[in-house]
Amino acid sequence: MPYIVGATAHGVKHVADVFHSENVFINHVPVALWLDPEGSEAAAYAAISAPTYSVESVTVLALEGETSADLSVASTQQALIEAGVISQAEVAAGNNAGANPNASDTAQGSGIIGVNTATVTVSGNVDETLLLSASQAASGIDYYVRTVTKQVSQTNRNGVIFPYDVATVAPANGYTAQEVCENLELLVKNCFDPIKAQYPKAFMTCSFRAAGRGSPSSQHPKGQACDIQFAGASKSDYFPIAQWIRDNVSFDQLILEYKTTGSGMPWIHVSYNKAGNRNQVFTFMNDRNCKAPGVTGLYDLSNA
Ligand SMILES: [Zn+2]
Repeated sequence: MPYIVGATAHGVKHVADVFHSENVFINHVPVALWLDPEGSEAAAYAAISAPTYSVESVTVLALEGETSADLSVASTQQALIEAGVISQAEVAAGNNAGANPNASDTAQGSGIIGVNTATVTVSGNVDETLLLSASQAASGIDYYVRTVTKQVSQTNRNGVIFPYDVATVAPANGYTAQEVCENLELLVKNCFDPIKAQYPKAFMTCSFRAAGRGSPSSQHPKGQACDIQFAGASKSDYFPIAQWIRDNVSFDQLILEYKTTGSGMPWIHVSYNKAGNRNQVFTFMNDRNCKAPGVTGLYDLSNA
């Protein structure tokens, strides 16, 4: 999840998650509060539904690394500490939690074989593309590609949420809109929809995004990955949820991600790759593997 500059407290600038941030506004209404789909979402959609709207942009300072790019994440963290954006104490608390987890579960992923054939028909307006119809979805939901700033009604809300325009950003990322939409379809079909069916409060905070932001090998710019949070969930709820996903969902990478900065709320990164799933399970703290690069397993770091 991208970071942006958040509030200043005690003279120190803190980071906030883009999709939780009070800094992302449409018509001065915060649209980044997906943490509470049953509350703030209505205000966000009302703002987007307005005849005209303007979106304030945000500056991305650092991004999650889904791979073992540990050195670059470490240097970014150091730069953020030196800039006063995050604190040494926050990073130390995260490192300590990684060394002393509440619980450890090093079981491997289930290796469930997923669906690898995409059938998506990309709409002329890419942002209206239907990825999975309610009749085929375990959750009974219609899933559309939805660029968050282009959602113009309160119907068909469920989508693959991102602030990037697929039609233009996909080619800029080196992929066709068709490729990205196919990847999103398989991601929804194999990963997100089963999770949504089991946990109706699940919601995507980020999926497709522009390349060049974050890990070079990130699967987000291909439409192969999404980040998920759960409305009303506490920090400690994420560990058992990640265990359920590991045992019941087909995936390439499953990453339980904690942080001691910004909102402090965890999220779950899930990816799907039709070319072959590695079935990897990791736990990250502040964008780094909580143990060491390449160490697998789920660790409950909700005590951080
Ligand atoms: Zn992610």
